[in-house]
Amino acid sequence: MLASATIRDAPTLRNAQTLREADALLDAALIAPDRRDAIARVAARYAIAIPPALQSLIEHADDPIARQFVPHEDELVTAPHETADPIADEALSPVRGIVHRYKDRALLKPLLVCPVYCRFCFRREQVGPDGGLLSSTELEAAYAYLRAHTELREIILTGGDPLMLSPRRLGAILQVLDAIPHIETLRVHTRLPIATPETVTPDLLGALRTEKPLWLAIHANSAREFTPASRAALAQLARVAPLLGQSVLLAGVNDSPEAMEALLRAMLAARIKPYYLHQLDAAPGTARFHVPIERGRAILAALRGRISGLAIPAYVLDIPGGHGKVPIAPDHWRNDPGHGATVLDRDGNPHQVADQPRSG
Ligand SMILES: *Cc1c(COP(=O)(O)O)cnc(C)c1O
Ligand code: SF4
Repeated sequence: MLASATIRDAPTLRNAQTLREADALLDAALIAPDRRDAIARVAARYAIAIPPALQSLIEHADDPIARQFVPHEDELVTAPHETADPIADEALSPVRGIVHRYKDRALLKPLLVCPVYCRFCFRREQVGPDGGLLSSTELEAAYAYLRAHTELREIILTGGDPLMLSPRRLGAILQVLDAIPHIETLRVHTRLPIATPETVTPDLLGALRTEKPLWLAIHANSAREFTPASRAALAQLARVAPLLGQSVLLAGVNDSPEAMEALLRAMLAARIKPYYLHQLDAAPGTARFHVPIERGRAILAALRGRISGLAIPAYVLDIPGGHGKVPIAPDHWRNDPGHGATVLDRDGNPHQVADQPRSG
């Protein structure tokens, strides 16, 4: 059960701290006293961090910000279909810190620390504040793998959040990748400009300057995450690299056409091209966020024609077991053998189109 709504005072970032424990959440009035012990059990299992910028956005216990970041006792319940490594990163990891699923691109996870811990995270069993910083020996082994695999053309830094590295370390990693001849493209996945926009500093921006094209993929799930501070941080980042948006379809956060439209418009306004809308991965204790795929398809269908095509992300499912991402967007096209094809317009009306050479 959710605690009754807690309305907080006008936000102030002064003296504010990142909340990491049940007692801190209680002091901040983000959980009710009778939930303290259950939340402490959640905290013993999964990392918690709610930085000041996000705390100040929480208006009540069931709003889109609280739902994403405030822990909940339902996280202690693992549904039968949920697994610790839902998309089999581990099985596809040839060397610590690398995941190589697709031929031409691989993930490099230099650390598993994040500025905020999302309650629906698909890597929730791995991420945490003391987790996963690759040692220099491990980094060298990862570089050796990337150098040896000349079929790789793109390296995606993820984690954890790579922008949590010191600018010096991040810059050093990007320079090594920049110098590998067969690598053409670099990508960094981050939540930082949303979670701790004040940490987007000139040093960090400097670390992101590469020779090769670099793309930044920004994780955000609700329009409310785009505050003046996060928009200012994003404007700085957009001067360094093109910005892509990544979102997860989440119950109670963005599972209506209106909420999704607001999110996608907020992204465009922040110079972000929405790239992927992810179907939720089945990590343990995340069932309360599940939105059925048919519902996701209906939401996207409702947006087609209503907002700029620039704002529409690809709706994708990462197939459980490590089989990769596949588009699951609504279909507008049906093959009619012998008669060309039928397409459905944005109102669902069918139209015949010739889709074969005309005979005679
Ligand atoms: C998602 C993912 C990628 C990137 O896939 P794109 O479709 O290129 O964004 C690469 N490797 C792994 C293991 C992934 O899970
Ligand atoms: S920022 Fe990304 S990796 Fe970190 S907890 Fe959230 S979803 Fe997981």
